[in-house]
Amino acid sequence: MRRKFVAGNWKMNTSFQSAQSLAREVASAVAASNPAVDVAVCPPFPFLWPVQQVLVGSPVALGGQNAYHEKSGAFTGETSLDMLIDVGCQWVILGHSERRQFFGETDASINRKIAASVERGLGVIFCIGEVLEDRQAGRTETVLETQLAGGLAGFTATQLQKMVIAYEPVWAIGTGVTASPEQAESAHAFIRNWIAMHIDASLATALRIQYGGSVKPENAKEILSQPNVDGALVGGASLKSDQFLGIISAAAELARV
Ligand code: PEP
Repeated sequence: MRRKFVAGNWKMNTSFQSAQSLAREVASAVAASNPAVDVAVCPPFPFLWPVQQVLVGSPVALGGQNAYHEKSGAFTGETSLDMLIDVGCQWVILGHSERRQFFGETDASINRKIAASVERGLGVIFCIGEVLEDRQAGRTETVLETQLAGGLAGFTATQLQKMVIAYEPVWAIGTGVTASPEQAESAHAFIRNWIAMHIDASLATALRIQYGGSVKPENAKEILSQPNVDGALVGGASLKSDQFLGIISAAAELARV
């Protein structure tokens, strides 16, 4: 059985102080309840280190929201994967739709970032998902296929063992509109099948696929109980500890049944 994985993407939110308090609240509640679920938080770059300090000895992992594929050098404003590892990150989110939409990331540039992460052994949360126009035109699977083929071109199953895929329909991100459990399950099943057909069947069976898009404590159980949904990538609701912890509890309850 795949262990569920709930990750919080804090995006460009929090301050030094609020990032530490949020991490402290999440870490102490997770340590106390010891849920059978993996948990990570992904703060903005300047707060990775202060949050890491709070997470020392905690089961909550730290992740970056992006990284550049080059090792070092004249790349003003960029953050390398080695820098993320250096401050204690175990995960990096790559290919988020906001990176694709506002910062011109392409399947090819995401592929380079995944390659660099794989080389360094950092866990990747690889985000894919269709915009509303594509869903309405019946192109969801075509879009997912293009993003999977482009982002994962050239990798072997062994290289992708630590990868997690986040299916995030763009129309559900930050909108309050969640994909129905059926829509999520169908996209997740498609992704798993694509991995089995084009990369490796055992990788597909073990692969964790998170759902992302307006997940809240109220809808978490229904979505997370779908057979191919193995966790959640949470934006807005990860900024409030009670909401994020509510989603973790919903995942933990399902792990017990
Ligand atoms: C996200 O940005 O990854 C996300 C899922 O955001 P939200 O939960 O706010 O829709």
